[in-house]
Amino acid sequence: MSNKIFNLDVNASYGLLPIVKEALRSEFDYGLNPSSIHQGGQRARAVIEDARASIKSFLGIGKDWKVIFTSGATEANNLAIYSSSLASTKNSPFHGITSAIEHHAVLEPFSLLSKKGGFVDFVSPENGKFLVDDFLKYVKHETQIVSLMYANNETGQVMPVRDLFAKVKEENPNISTHCDAVQAFGKTKIEVNSLNADMLTMSGHKIGALTGVGALIVKDDFNFKTLLLGGAQETRQRAGTENVLGIFSLGLACKYHQETLEKNIQKLVSLKEVFKTKLKLAFPDLNFNSYSNEELPNTINVRFPNILSSDLVVGLDLNNLYVSSGAACSSGKPLPSHVLLAMGCSEKEAQESIRISFRHDFQENDIDEVLSIIYKAIKK
Ligand code: PLP
Repeated sequence: MSNKIFNLDVNASYGLLPIVKEALRSEFDYGLNPSSIHQGGQRARAVIEDARASIKSFLGIGKDWKVIFTSGATEANNLAIYSSSLASTKNSPFHGITSAIEHHAVLEPFSLLSKKGGFVDFVSPENGKFLVDDFLKYVKHETQIVSLMYANNETGQVMPVRDLFAKVKEENPNISTHCDAVQAFGKTKIEVNSLNADMLTMSGHKIGALTGVGALIVKDDFNFKTLLLGGAQETRQRAGTENVLGIFSLGLACKYHQETLEKNIQKLVSLKEVFKTKLKLAFPDLNFNSYSNEELPNTINVRFPNILSSDLVVGLDLNNLYVSSGAACSSGKPLPSHVLLAMGCSEKEAQESIRISFRHDFQENDIDEVLSIIYKAIKK
């Protein structure tokens, strides 16, 4: 066995990009408070504003958007959903619409709001497909927010966000639209300006920056109501001393993806095609959990019949191959993936499925070694 580690679990964490790793070794003192008026503080402030500009440039957005730095995507999703609920009253309770396959950082805040007297429609697919009309039928006068992820973290399926948000805004421009785009940034091209989203979520560690940093990207004219009160940071939209080092790394990762996105997408598309073809040849019994014509080019969800995925993940790990048997946040829990169940898998099928997700620097000529590791683990 070679000592090589194959991290094919990049949807859990991308791994630091080399340029981020290198820059973090620099001499700069990121430990100062960007709200301090001395020169040290002002240097930290400049780092933050530079990162904000890099994020905007990567997303192709200008002055009509703001970037609110957060501790990650979980916080950004919670902020987006709870913020939109603040307008609800006893006479007009909260109503939200989302999909059943969102990340828990979206599902849980919605669940809490529904337990507290609000109403939430969790839309499931019809015959394995999400149709815009299945969401639209729940839109009503009181609806406060429609939240839909850009691409699913487990299956890679791209959701009909663009069509849905256009139609929601056509019906009622006052409904807030939020997109958890965590898994799509850096892996596919998103035309943010024309998405009809009021808010988008991004996460640092899903694109090669540090963990513990993210952002909520908000339309400037959107009535965002903050939940974190305290200092005046982030133009009073998110109190708390900023994570300067994390924000710095996020800005760098965005610069990197802006320069390389098209080339890397092409590479991922061809890698995925070769990988899937070779997998099917090596394991004719397998099934791909594939639900959309449009998928992330780095994500493969695959079922090996009669092989428990939790055993397989451990067997592969013993051979330095990292994959996942569900969303990273729920690994460790022996529950079948809520995403696969919602997509129509039985519990048994869901528990036989693994997610393989890779970066652009995974090499085509490593695929055969990866296949032989899987083969050995399955035989065992
Ligand atoms: N949203 C999606 C789609 C994710 O995949 C994840 C993490 O797996 C999150 C939100 C939460 O991200 P974070 O770890 O930055 O809180």
